Amino acid sequence: MTSHFFSPVVQRLVPYIPGEQPKISNLVKLNTNENPYPPSPRVIAAITHAAQQGLQLYPDPESTALRQAIAAHHGLAEKHVFLGNGSDEVLAHAFFAFFQQGRPLLMPDISYSFYKVYCGLYGITAQTVPLADDMHLNVADYAQADSLSVAGVVMANPNAPTGIGLPLADIERLLQMHPHRVVLVDEAYVDFGGQSAVGLIGIYPNLLVVHTLSKSRSLAGLRIGYACAQAPLIEALERVKNSFNSYPLDRLAIAGGVAAFEDQAYFEQTCQAVMDSREGLVLALEDLGFVVLPSQANFVFARHPQQDAAGLAAGLRARGVLVRHFKLPRIDSYLRISVGTLEQCDQFIQALAELLASQP
Ligand SMILES: *Cc1c(COP(=O)(O)O)cnc(C)c1O
Repeated sequence: MTSHFFSPVVQRLVPYIPGEQPKISNLVKLNTNENPYPPSPRVIAAITHAAQQGLQLYPDPESTALRQAIAAHHGLAEKHVFLGNGSDEVLAHAFFAFFQQGRPLLMPDISYSFYKVYCGLYGITAQTVPLADDMHLNVADYAQADSLSVAGVVMANPNAPTGIGLPLADIERLLQMHPHRVVLVDEAYVDFGGQSAVGLIGIYPNLLVVHTLSKSRSLAGLRIGYACAQAPLIEALERVKNSFNSYPLDRLAIAGGVAAFEDQAYFEQTCQAVMDSREGLVLALEDLGFVVLPSQANFVFARHPQQDAAGLAAGLRARGVLVRHFKLPRIDSYLRISVGTLEQCDQFIQALAELLASQP
């Protein structure tokens, strides 16, 4: 649909399409990389408490308590942390703050598809750099004769939807290749076995690391994301935020987020449980003839040499299991399967085995 009311930018916008959030229950939902475990009970208690007092008042525009909790978790000062309503909002502000330069922004050809959507929103040209045939990222491909000819670099580490992680030494090489451009490393999945670049912030003024509480902290429903960087990058993000929405985090999110960081033991247990499930899931998929990329995330990316992935996704859905299929070049033979509980993974594998047995 279009209308003469649309501005030229809106006429051209190609929005992100999130994975299905089904209205029916008792599906095995392995399509949007949520955590299969609920948040820590302490989070629920904190939100309940926060709901009982002060909702008539605006929240702290600086979300100071949560910024302190996050800073303490990473061993950083508070001024190195920026918060947003989900990391998608943090990413959007970062694209606006750093990449609107009239130069192309480097990113892998296969990556989080929202990056290109932000480019469309803010008039940024995306320059995609192909991953190798085995889906690994080769940092040398990001070298430029003149680094100032690009707006910066954005990538997810571990990458999405491949799940493949990049060693920290490679991130450092990227930072050194582009010393006068922001290198944005989206670590949405880093807590499931990746190497975090947060420890490099003190060394590299061009590094912006983005995290979310949606995956490893089981809080996709609360919408909390954050960025860590040296003070000037944080200041730029604050300027954008305070020109857009002074209160991106509500009182419940601030309280719940603080409690999530107070329960380190729960965080470690649930991350470990997801990694343990992942190991079993990979083996079971391989037994069924799938080729599975090495994953450091809470999902696996797998293809079957003889089966059509879209058909498998549809067949699984008919059997009550949701997985994600991307109808995109290079990856349309793959399925992305979020790692569920052991029981959910068993249900998925059983449905998949039945489906394969019923195929010609
Ligand atoms: C899930 C995801 C996000 C978005 O996280 P929210 O905090 O829920 O907005 C960002 N980047 C990547 C790579 C993701 O997979």
